[in-house]
Amino acid sequence: MSPFEGLEHIVRQEVPLAPYTRIKVGGTAEYFAEPTSLAELLEVIQRANSHNIVVRTLGSGASLLIREHKIDGVLLHLSAPLFSEVTVEGDILQAGGGINLNNLIAIAAREGLSGLENLVGIAGTLGGALRNNLDGSGISVGGPGIGQWVEDVTVITRQGEVCTRTRSELQFSHRQSSLNELVILNARIKLIAGDKKEIIQKMQKQWILVKNQQPAPDHHLAFVFKDPSGYQAADLIDRAGLKGAKVGRVSVSSRNANYLEVLPGATSEEVLDLLSQVEATIEEKFEISLEQQLEIW
Ligand SMILES: Cc1cc2nc3c(=O)[nH]c(=O)nc-3n(C[C@H](O)[C@H](O)[C@H](O)COP(=O)(O)OP(=O)(O)OC[C@H]3O[C@@H](n4cnc5c(N)ncnc54)[C@H](O)[C@@H]3O)c2cc1C
Repeated sequence: MSPFEGLEHIVRQEVPLAPYTRIKVGGTAEYFAEPTSLAELLEVIQRANSHNIVVRTLGSGASLLIREHKIDGVLLHLSAPLFSEVTVEGDILQAGGGINLNNLIAIAAREGLSGLENLVGIAGTLGGALRNNLDGSGISVGGPGIGQWVEDVTVITRQGEVCTRTRSELQFSHRQSSLNELVILNARIKLIAGDKKEIIQKMQKQWILVKNQQPAPDHHLAFVFKDPSGYQAADLIDRAGLKGAKVGRVSVSSRNANYLEVLPGATSEEVLDLLSQVEATIEEKFEISLEQQLEIW
């Protein structure tokens, strides 16, 4: 008997994952769940726990490298409208963990709330952005990351309990956070009331920077290393002469050396080979160890 009997309308089996990642590489999920309500989400987690099935949450797959094997367990995908809802109260936005970050930034601008403009154009959902404390460093100046705006975050723990973590309980540092709970359900973000016109102008400037970094239309982009303390990964890779370095269908971008350009048909092996070559060269030239930003599944 399937552990998810009766939930077939929201749990599919053997689902190819490449379309759910930014670089379009990956194997299949054993189970792939797209609940439409909190009750369904909790039911999937409870069933998985009672059958000792591994559970993970997928955002927009912007920082994932999924290998071409079967991913055991169930992947939660917060694609239902409920998980992207936003409410605004004064300078506080409450938003679902599944919302596309760019949609959230547009809503903030419409409400005359400033703070997130330097994140315009970066791929991700709010859940993935909070988990990785997303900053704007791939495009312009980084700053302390999205975590600086957080008031509190409502999560589902691995045991299936819904809890709220307040700001004082959370830690955000360079592209990482203490938010390693199973599901980031929603967050309250306190922004700064500002002039709508100015906010929109800042967003437009940011869009121009983003556009300048776009590769050829048939390439997909991966953002690959964290910045080592006191350095920028992109600058080190550039100084090491690695722009344009290539393995198979994957190459170091000539626009921003911390991006990989990935052609259709590329494999996870090619991505990993190129990452190892870059890491080894940076270690040899500068005696600096690069830490990968991509999470490998
Ligand atoms: C072209 C490009 C440019 C980029 N530029 C930048 C940049 O400038 N700065 C920067 O910081 N990052 C950058 N990134 C990286 C990426 O955008 C961020 O890491 C983003 O936050 C990932 O969000 P996601 O929703 O895609 O998460 P995913 O990649 O799907 O998942 C990332 C992690 O978050 C977890 N997760 C996702 N959603 C949830 C949830 N709701 N609840 C619990 N856990 C969850 C996943 O389990 C996984 O562990 C860039 C990526 C690309 C492709």
